[in-house]
Amino acid sequence: MVQRMSSTATSTLLRDAALRVTRPRVAVLEALEHHPHADTDAVVRLVREQIGTVSTQAVYDVLRALTAAGLVRRIEPAGSPARFERRVGDNHHHVVCRGCGALADVDCAVGEAPCLSASNARGFVIDEAEVTYWGTCPTCTSRESTTQGDALT
Ligand SMILES: [Zn+2]
Ligand SMILES: [Zn+2]
Ligand SMILES: [Zn+2]
Repeated sequence: MVQRMSSTATSTLLRDAALRVTRPRVAVLEALEHHPHADTDAVVRLVREQIGTVSTQAVYDVLRALTAAGLVRRIEPAGSPARFERRVGDNHHHVVCRGCGALADVDCAVGEAPCLSASNARGFVIDEAEVTYWGTCPTCTSRESTTQGDALT
């Protein structure tokens, strides 16, 4: 359900979030629109493809500003670099492949945080349960079944 957005729509989004419209900001948002869950290195590469020279630090700063403004969600599965996405506010989760790090969205069965009730909240007001599913992606599963044959020889 990824919506294609024009640059104008992206600019409006920035303005609505009270952020100045700059080429790097627009470029980062557009990169993430087409490449959800990209890590910083990938975002830097994609932004450079779009607008040419831009420093890695500038892209870091843009990602930080967009995340703080709630336009971008930052996820950081254990053992993997931070990744960024435009799909915000729906409390969806992720499934991560232990083999290759592939990552996919998993809709929250409940739809809002916190979707797991704590057996004992210990007096805390809980607003989120961070859920990450771990497993083996289809590509790695099929690779495993082919290499298993080789391992026997
Ligand atoms: Zn995999
Ligand atoms: Zn996601
Ligand atoms: Zn959930």
